[in-house]
Amino acid sequence: MKKSVVLYKRLSAELMARLHEQVEVQLIDPSTAAGLAQLHDALPKAQGLLGASLKVDDALLSLAPQLEVVSSVSVGVDNYAIEAFNQRGVLLTNTPDVLTETTADTGFALILAAARRVVELDRWIRAGHWQAAIGPSHFGCDVQGKTLGIVGMGRIGEALARRAAAGFGMQVLYHSRNPRPEVEQRYGAGYRSLSELLQQSDFVCLTVPLSPATENLISHEQLALMKPSAILINIARGKVLDEAALIDALQHQRIRGAGLDVMVQEPLPQDSPLLQLDNLVLTPHIGSATLETREAMARCAVDNLLAGLAGERPANLVNPSAWPRRSGI
Ligand code: NAP
Repeated sequence: MKKSVVLYKRLSAELMARLHEQVEVQLIDPSTAAGLAQLHDALPKAQGLLGASLKVDDALLSLAPQLEVVSSVSVGVDNYAIEAFNQRGVLLTNTPDVLTETTADTGFALILAAARRVVELDRWIRAGHWQAAIGPSHFGCDVQGKTLGIVGMGRIGEALARRAAAGFGMQVLYHSRNPRPEVEQRYGAGYRSLSELLQQSDFVCLTVPLSPATENLISHEQLALMKPSAILINIARGKVLDEAALIDALQHQRIRGAGLDVMVQEPLPQDSPLLQLDNLVLTPHIGSATLETREAMARCAVDNLLAGLAGERPANLVNPSAWPRRSGI
């Protein structure tokens, strides 16, 4: 008998066909109340779940006693209660690597847009203000030759470092829990404490996973260490940055500007003070959002799911502690 899988993300026709060949599929949209009720009805039978952004905690897992694999279409896994997965022997998989370069591109798009005021000046033209030659009040700041500080030197951090060093002649500083000598060698990057990095960088880009250790990693105290001319970019998760502290710093021009791809509350509420700030560029969590990369992520997630359901160890297993129990079945 085919195993039962709940999809909470729509996939391409090709991937849907592949799934239908091997498993029973139920597609559900849990963002609506009706969809959430459908999800709760489907969970008791489900052996697999595949999607992104759903909070999967112990309470939800308790509704799915037959669950074997949860395949996330993301690299970040902060919305999953991993300890509960381990206790129940449920495998959790993610989609690293395939989104690294695209997410680093998003980081650079925000760096350039904030430095050269691309979005602000686009709005200015459309509002009919371009009546004469521009002057210094419209000038931005250089990116090339400046110092980029990367907080979290993992896959995406390294892809940023490569762009910065090879493409923009930037000096790269980084902070991680563990130094990365090979990255230092490849890109001439320098390891710094978080405080040193914030003091010395012209651009600071956050690429750490969200965890109890990184929640509000950047708040008033850290923003106060940054140069008044510096720009802060967050492509990690909204909660890594204390949003109220950023709003305060931007309102009082304590730093030059910021670019956010991720926010504490997504979608961003219409009354958010972030929307009032000219020295801020916002994108709606588009880090990996290109047609090619989203398809590659979905394919990777389907591979992980089908491997796990077939009793094979998935390539991108997040919680190896659950594997002995699952493989013993
Ligand atoms: P990764 O390869 O695991 O890199 C994360 C790095 O952060 C690791 O090198 C880790 O190094 C460092 N780190 C972890 N905890 C830290 C801490 N407390 N202090 C300092 N450094 C810490 O992950 P990745 O593939 O680069 O992805 C990083 C994150 O980006 C994801 O978790 C996700 O949340 C986010 N992301 C966002 C988007 C988007 O759409 N905006 C897209 C993809 C990913 P050490 O453990 O050695 O310190």
